[in-house]
Amino acid sequence: MSLSQFLNFNHTCPICDEPLHLYMQQVGSSCFEAKLIEPNLYEFNTFKVMKGYSGTIETTNNAAVPQEKMLLLDKGNSFEMKWENASAKAEAKKFQIYFFFLCNPAGFVDKVWGDYEINLYKGCYYRSTPFMEYQKKYANNEDVWTLETTNKDQADIINKDEAYSFKQKPATPEGLERVYMVNLDYEKKATTLWHYSTTESERKKENFKAKLFEKEMPLLGTRIKAGPEDREKLLERLDGWIMLS
Ligand SMILES: [Zn+2]
Repeated sequence: MSLSQFLNFNHTCPICDEPLHLYMQQVGSSCFEAKLIEPNLYEFNTFKVMKGYSGTIETTNNAAVPQEKMLLLDKGNSFEMKWENASAKAEAKKFQIYFFFLCNPAGFVDKVWGDYEINLYKGCYYRSTPFMEYQKKYANNEDVWTLETTNKDQADIINKDEAYSFKQKPATPEGLERVYMVNLDYEKKATTLWHYSTTESERKKENFKAKLFEKEMPLLGTRIKAGPEDREKLLERLDGWIMLS
């Protein structure tokens, strides 16, 4: 895959139009948050750390969490990564990683044990790369480390997953809120739709688990038009999928 295509695919949420936030996850380890500091130059800083044996997660407001910094320069057909700290660089090579964009950081929900999950109800829009890993190559008489897609069959995939959530707000505060979530999995070539609705009193219960409808279909042939002007039509289409099952 071209990481550059992933980074430049879109920068605002197709649903709410807010800017997207970029992250890099080391699988089973730390998550880094990026900021764009110059055109095509991203600075990644430690955002969440998985603690070794206990598997609990620490957010960066804990002073005991080591802060690491990495710069990523997108050069189009290739890119450079520079770690501030040599041990962090050596450590980084052990992990598979993936990058993802999320519309709203409120979508991060820390688990009691382990790491975090993305709550799409709050997050609105998410997209991620396939798994990648560092590989050593010999070029120009030296060993160079490059980041490659782990599964070569996925080398042409820009987004591995692309997920949306849509809410049909009730006309009155007491009414039913209808929630639709759609995930496009470009690796499995599958579309999954989840749907549920809640009443006002259900929404007020902290741990309420709504009855979830789930349907898997082939990958959509065309991109989802998710803007406000297309929303009504889209929800009608999603309702059609639900009725047909
Ligand atoms: Zn959004």
